[in-house]
Amino acid sequence: MVQILPTSGKCPHCEKAISGYSSAARDYGTPIRTCRNCNQQYLDSRFIELAVEEPAPRDLSASTGLKVALFGAAGLIISVGFTLFTLFSRGEYYPRMVIVSVMSVILIIYGIVDAIRVKTGAKMKSLDKKRNESEQRLMDKAYAHQLRELGYNIPEKYL
Ligand SMILES: [Zn+2]
Repeated sequence: MVQILPTSGKCPHCEKAISGYSSAARDYGTPIRTCRNCNQQYLDSRFIELAVEEPAPRDLSASTGLKVALFGAAGLIISVGFTLFTLFSRGEYYPRMVIVSVMSVILIIYGIVDAIRVKTGAKMKSLDKKRNESEQRLMDKAYAHQLRELGYNIPEKYL
């Protein structure tokens, strides 16, 4: 029996925590997952089944990547500013601030690359691929019926 994964992120069957669980995370794939500990199935609605669900809005908008890049830029300005300030006023610097600077640069690059992927349609293409995989899964009638029983709105063609 497929049970719903609670927001605590613990398997509804054996109560073992799902590793790396974050309730805000979204990914693509089947929402029916198998617990690695007890091998039983549970419904994890953080996984988007693209054949029957819409993609996460953030994956369609270039502004998401730009926001990440801006966040990185703010981090870089603050960490570099702080480092220069302590270096010149006290002759010392904090290695942690250097790490923050490096992480900020990574965020800037990641954000810009992400925005470019949305703008050039590369991201759409990878979503199309995932949608195809999702449609393949839905071709399995038993799976389509299982999802419908779990409350998913399944188009007639799959049933
Ligand atoms: Zn389990």
